[in-house]
Amino acid sequence: MDCHKVREVVFLYADKEMDGELLISFEQHVAICPECARRAVHAERLIMVVRKRCGRQMAPADLRRRILTSLRHREAGN
Ligand SMILES: [Zn+2]
Repeated sequence: MDCHKVREVVFLYADKEMDGELLISFEQHVAICPECARRAVHAERLIMVVRKRCGRQMAPADLRRRILTSLRHREAGN
């Protein structure tokens, strides 16, 4: 896995929806890449915040869309 792929799948990881080969490959990359390690922690935190704020009513797909949107805004702002 490379940094680009990590960006694509980091929310699957943060949302605990990643498993098998993908998870192994993700964790191997994160172990050697501080930038992606930070990204993973950030994604987990973001998911927790959104979950707390939105409660249980929100469907997972909706949740993910919201997180991705907010992250894109954040990165665009940099
Ligand atoms: Zn990386």
